[in-house]
Amino acid sequence: MPAAAVSTDSFTARQQQALLAHTRLCAEYGAPFLFFSDKDPLSELMSALLSHRTKNADSHRAYERLRATFSTWEAVRDAPTLDVQRAISACTWPEQKAPRLQSVLREVSRRCGDDERPPCSLDFLGELPIAEARAWLESISGIGPKTSAAVLLFSCLRRPAMPVDSHHHRVAQRLGLIGPKVGEGPAHALLAALLPPDWTAQQVYDHHEALMFHGQKCCFFHAPACSRCIMLDVCPFGQARISKAIDA
Ligand code: SF4
Repeated sequence: MPAAAVSTDSFTARQQQALLAHTRLCAEYGAPFLFFSDKDPLSELMSALLSHRTKNADSHRAYERLRATFSTWEAVRDAPTLDVQRAISACTWPEQKAPRLQSVLREVSRRCGDDERPPCSLDFLGELPIAEARAWLESISGIGPKTSAAVLLFSCLRRPAMPVDSHHHRVAQRLGLIGPKVGEGPAHALLAALLPPDWTAQQVYDHHEALMFHGQKCCFFHAPACSRCIMLDVCPFGQARISKAIDA
């Protein structure tokens, strides 16, 4: 017999659903999760820009070779673009990403220093309120909410800002935390608003990682494994799928 319909119509219901997903999925996947990086924030930003639509292993290789080729971010900024492009050839679209990295580095330098060629650093973001730090980053062309959150959370700054990747987004949508037409960009603010405002960086990180792992290991894009999912009893999407299968 199909289970009762699950409603996430109200904000309070979505908050409860987010916390329930957090509790169950963190337990399922073994939170607390270790942070995978402790880069300084500018290095994290460069790494994030390299990782766009690139497999982790490839963007990691590109990042490592870039660091081995140039001793500082200032050297990357001022190098011939073709040299940067060669150094990051392991990632997708190096011909687009090389000038992009350099223009972001120039913009960071322009905003942060008084000298003609000031050093590149984003360490000051650790002192700003999170909303201000994110707005500062997102005012640079090509930096969106996922990248700004990643810089603040994944870097050594460890600020409680939540990135939403495609797996996290899909799981959140199916669980009814956001509407079916909300895109990844706008989802950031909506999903962050469901979490307790006093959560630590570790809690925010665990929430993101747990939903992402669930998308990778169970709630697949094409054929979610609803029948073995620990969220099935409270998942509107999963309930609808199961009901349809029973009716067919
Ligand atoms: S029940 Fe299905 S759709 Fe819902 S979270 Fe689980 S796998 Fe995804």
